[in-house]
Amino acid sequence: MKSVDDDEIIVEYGNPVEKILTVSEEKKCDLIVMGTHGTGSIMDAMMGSTTTRVLRRSKIPVMVIRLPEYIRKRFLSKVLSTIDIQKERYKTPFDYSQCARCGINVADRLCQKVDGKFPNGCPTNNSTQVIKAALDEMQKSGAFDFARQSTIQEGEGYGDRELGYARVRPIKSRIEETIEFSTRMNYRRLGLAFCLGLRKEARVVDKLLTKAGFEVVSAMCKIGRIDKNYIGVRDDQKIRLCGLEPMCNPIAQAFVLNEAQTDFNITVGLCVGHDSLFLKYSEALCTVFAVKDRVLGHNPLAAIYTLDSYYRVLK
Ligand code: SF4
Repeated sequence: MKSVDDDEIIVEYGNPVEKILTVSEEKKCDLIVMGTHGTGSIMDAMMGSTTTRVLRRSKIPVMVIRLPEYIRKRFLSKVLSTIDIQKERYKTPFDYSQCARCGINVADRLCQKVDGKFPNGCPTNNSTQVIKAALDEMQKSGAFDFARQSTIQEGEGYGDRELGYARVRPIKSRIEETIEFSTRMNYRRLGLAFCLGLRKEARVVDKLLTKAGFEVVSAMCKIGRIDKNYIGVRDDQKIRLCGLEPMCNPIAQAFVLNEAQTDFNITVGLCVGHDSLFLKYSEALCTVFAVKDRVLGHNPLAAIYTLDSYYRVLK
């Protein structure tokens, strides 16, 4: 190398392939040497994928060498101490997944095609080991068939597929999909966790599921009639401002459905936060049929759709 000092360690943040290529260009390097060891650890596998990409894209020669363990350890400890010095910068969430900010045309994204483009913070490029771990987990945890059937269900939600992707059209509502998917999974007993404010809707959902042949067990949010004082909520923090006001009890909803050994649970209008607890404590996998939005008719996306007009104040 022409201008990298002996033993100089440069710690960069971002996409490793991009950074190696950029730094080697900035430093006018003649050669990139990359270590590999292949002991099967997560770090090894990441290095493997980075090496392959650097090899493919580098305009200067790349030498891949197998690093003896003692050199690897010595090198790693130097890198870690450098990282420690730059701790604050290292903590910048530069590499964390930022899909919501991805500005690349959908059809050209790396998650859509093998040679697709990607921004910094692209998990398809940066998190190959995490993705592999997710696939392993899917196999181990028995989620494989659930994933397969829900993906088949997703496809079934479109008509005219034989006319090509540009011509397909959605043909199934969420209630139809929920019934079809539960049938596909051979579920017999379904749990319905709902909010008092959506009791009428829950009754209709119960009827439709029953008519479709399922056994339905339902649990409303206020079960137990535990006063909000129990969780430290003062009278002036209640809706009625004083007296008994039962709290939502999502953990109890989950426990009631767990006791009934439901195969699959469906939520209808649970509050923000209460839904989180229900989802955490439910033993059966869950699907959300409806979310609560007291102002927007339980369609929270209405605020997002009208962000440039009525809801501009949120911007
Ligand atoms: S995975 Fe990568 S390419 Fe796909 S949306 Fe996320 S950032 Fe964009």
